[in-house]
Amino acid sequence: MTSWALVYEEFVPEQEALREALCALGNGYFAARGAAPESEAGEIHYPGTYLAGGYNRLHTEISGRTVENEDLVNLPNWLPLSFRIRGGNWFNLHAVEILSYHQQLDLRQGVLSRTVRFRDHEGNQTRVSQRRLVHIRDFHLAALETVISAENWSGPLQVRSGLDGGVVNAGVERYQRLSNKHLQPLDAQAIGEDAVFLKVETSQSELGVALAARTRLYRRGARLNVQPRVIEKPDRVAQEFELELAEGEDVTIEKIVAMFSSRDHAISECGLAAKEAAADAGDFEELIESHVLVWDQLWRHFDLELEHAAGARENEAEMILRLHIFHLLQTASPAIKDLDTGIPARGLHGEAYRGHIFWDELFAFPILNLRMPEITRAVLMYRYRRLEAARAAAHAAGYRGAMYPWQSGSDGREESQTLHLNPRSGRWVPDNSRLQRHVNAAIAYNVWQYYQVTRDLEFLSAYGAEMILEIARFWASMVSFNPELDRYEIRGVMGPDEYHDAYPDAEEPGLDNNAYTNVMAAWVLCRALELPEVLAKERWRELRESIELRDDELQHWDEVSRKMRIAFHEDGIISQFEGYHELQELDWAAYREKYDDIQRLDRILEAEGDTPNRYRASKQADVLMLFYLFSSEELGELFERLGYPFHYDTIPKNIEYYIRRTSHGSTLSRVVHSWVLARSDRAASWRLFTQALQSDVGDIQGGTTAEGIHVGAMAGTVDILQRGHMGIETRRDLLWLNPSLPEELACIEMHIRFRGHSLTLIATKKRLTLRAGPSKAEPVRIGVREQTLTVAAGDTCEVEL
Ligand code: BGC
Repeated sequence: MTSWALVYEEFVPEQEALREALCALGNGYFAARGAAPESEAGEIHYPGTYLAGGYNRLHTEISGRTVENEDLVNLPNWLPLSFRIRGGNWFNLHAVEILSYHQQLDLRQGVLSRTVRFRDHEGNQTRVSQRRLVHIRDFHLAALETVISAENWSGPLQVRSGLDGGVVNAGVERYQRLSNKHLQPLDAQAIGEDAVFLKVETSQSELGVALAARTRLYRRGARLNVQPRVIEKPDRVAQEFELELAEGEDVTIEKIVAMFSSRDHAISECGLAAKEAAADAGDFEELIESHVLVWDQLWRHFDLELEHAAGARENEAEMILRLHIFHLLQTASPAIKDLDTGIPARGLHGEAYRGHIFWDELFAFPILNLRMPEITRAVLMYRYRRLEAARAAAHAAGYRGAMYPWQSGSDGREESQTLHLNPRSGRWVPDNSRLQRHVNAAIAYNVWQYYQVTRDLEFLSAYGAEMILEIARFWASMVSFNPELDRYEIRGVMGPDEYHDAYPDAEEPGLDNNAYTNVMAAWVLCRALELPEVLAKERWRELRESIELRDDELQHWDEVSRKMRIAFHEDGIISQFEGYHELQELDWAAYREKYDDIQRLDRILEAEGDTPNRYRASKQADVLMLFYLFSSEELGELFERLGYPFHYDTIPKNIEYYIRRTSHGSTLSRVVHSWVLARSDRAASWRLFTQALQSDVGDIQGGTTAEGIHVGAMAGTVDILQRGHMGIETRRDLLWLNPSLPEELACIEMHIRFRGHSLTLIATKKRLTLRAGPSKAEPVRIGVREQTLTVAAGDTCEVEL
């Protein structure tokens, strides 16, 4: 294994679905799973192609109810490419003797390759070598190159290359009972001499998707003139080429595909655009060259270099971190700067969570924001365009301001399902996860982080401030005043820990005074109150006029931001929610003994006829999220404003309390726990970090990665090094650096962008070196531990730690 490639040396059918997700190629506009080109969806393979924002809604009858789900649609498969030798069977990996197998995802170049040597029943020995890419810059294009070599035979070879629109959404077993046919075929035909064309439309959202595939054959570099036979069906189209191959000879088949949708900018009609793009595209070599160039440029910004303490280079950790950056960028690449898309929690890599967008953006944001804020700006614009929908949702629920959905898709309405299937018990149980109103705080937090890093006042003025104000207004309308306590309370919500959605035996779902939600709400109110100092006077006035924000409302916000309730246990522990300490303790040892894996304790308990609501047991970090998002200084100030104690031991005491009661049922959990332990229990922190690294490559949840990667955990592990160990924080108009390397690392080097500067940061245990690249940007102030430096373009500063 190198630190730049994910490599598999064997074909393992049971692992194929996982590998397809891990080897998916994409560019933020669309992505395709790393399925074998000759494969069809079934028990082992699942080719899937997904377009950012390509959603469609369907209805299903379940348990006497009609449920409506919006899915990220599995679009026509552009990969199909197969062949048969001397009139035998079409190539099928499962029906031949595999002599050697090598599959490699090259992270530096963004190229997936596979070389298989096999012997079929007739004794024909053949070598197939394939390379593919989904172009990272020319984001409508993808390409597949196949070289077939006849090792010990001569005779006819038939090659079939096509487009398959006869696909459904069948990638997640739990959703099998839900309606899944989203596509209606519109057109399937050959075009010109060397191409085929397919156009489909989604059944409800009427999204038109057109693909054109150009297939050319070459021998010894010269193009072969083979007239194909065309196979046209309503929902698929293919070309079949026949040629003679002599022993020792090979043929190269080049398939170049263009995909467009009816929502694309700067086109007349998607079919026309796809046909033209496929015809005009360069050949494979030209495409790979421009593709690799852009990946090279991206890596210059995004790569992190680690030196391991023992001097030995740990290829695996570095490879996984690069894989994580790679998939993050394939989900949210520079291409999305002009697209209307957020960051789906499971990437564009599979169908889990139906391609919906959650609060997970919070975990992906810092890596992108500190390198290419044009990407994070686009992610925020996705939310801004749905501000009206969020206002309507708040209004419908009896609140003011904007209430963003827990799961967001096409138009910004709530897409969370109302029932979910517990595969363990086979029962459909109510899903109340939409009560996680904290997603609103995450959006405001991201707006603020974007502004802190970029100082993009125009964005804040035109879009960001309005979102912060409307979210602040929502929180202020959600609180109720408790005169006995002289405190404001938020009732009936869920925190990030999804195991708790109600009090034991309560009729209605929802919990009171979730500490994370309340503190975040107070923080949002503070930021909203800070806006008049940041925005131009005139703009502040305009905003107030347009959203009818009066003085008394601002006074109310100020009061709520000072009097929000946080519940504590008697011993000073921050209560995850009011009454948490009255719940029973779970017998963790007994459950660990009884079940191999208790990550999904919720499903185990429900299957036993019990519920996690009765126990002090969490799926993931909840209170501890506060220590993940804020430094102790910032949290100390917030608590002081709220009039609550925040002692030197508040953080370690709470970590100690909650970590023992957490099953890490979400891949986000280990990221947060590793982070919060980084400065107090380095060994435990590193252990959790290495486990978090395995979330997807090791599929530690036992099957979930095959349904889509976990973008939050992927980005989060990189961010542990970035913001965690480098100690990067943007606060009070300054970039703060407070490096603290784990035992295992001798040096971390990274490149970030901050307010127009390109900064290289190199931290060892003893020294921080900071280099600002040449630019015209104004000098910036950077705080390193206790001191403040003014750094100008071209400066190099060294600080002893
Ligand atoms: C986690 C949520 C997360 C969602 C999508 C759930 O399992 O509990 O925090 O937002 O997955 O990744």
